[in-house]
Amino acid sequence: MPHNEQHHTERTGWLRAAVLGADDGIVSTASLLLGVASAHAAHGGILLAGVSGLVAGAMSMAAGEYVSVSSQADTEKADLALESQGLEADETSEREELAAIYVKRGLEAKLAKEVAEQLMAHDALGAHARDELGISETLKARPLQAAFASAVSFMVGAAVPLLTALVVPYRSLVDFVAGVSLIFLAVLGGLAARAGGARVIVGALRVLLWGALAMGLTAAAGSLFGSFV
Ligand SMILES: [Zn+2]
Repeated sequence: MPHNEQHHTERTGWLRAAVLGADDGIVSTASLLLGVASAHAAHGGILLAGVSGLVAGAMSMAAGEYVSVSSQADTEKADLALESQGLEADETSEREELAAIYVKRGLEAKLAKEVAEQLMAHDALGAHARDELGISETLKARPLQAAFASAVSFMVGAAVPLLTALVVPYRSLVDFVAGVSLIFLAVLGGLAARAGGARVIVGALRVLLWGALAMGLTAAAGSLFGSFV
């Protein structure tokens, strides 16, 4: 009877990336809006800065993610090529190496040898990739997918303060953008903590603190430099 316990690691990977992307979108766009608003820019100018921030932020997230995941993909590809050469050059010692990995994981030497033999007969490179290099199909680097996911999560996050700035009256824009953004940040922080099996309040407070700090400092900079332009 298959047991259906669900481990946190199974669901945190993509959720963590999505929440971090959205957090980033909220914090950087809300801070940008508060900075420009604190410099007493017109409503249109504030919204323009917000839209530019959303697009620029999403593209820089996508670019950063694409570059970092691509270099991971390159490393994986190079490791697999090396492994494939090793298998061609000396299959016997590769088999012994694999058996030794299984012994280290707790199998008896005889059984480990048998398992290594059978797995290598079935798919030698796959067995070494998974058990020696830790490269598996599910964890394989997918640069474009990762770039797209982080850009979308950034845009979803950035839309929160931007839509708030769009619909609220100009005179209470700073209060509403800050308030709504901080509420969403606390919810996201708590969600990410819960998905990762950590304490919700701790996760919420952590994101709230950094978000408030970023918004406060940017608003201060905006009102300081706003008096010069
Ligand atoms: Zn190997």
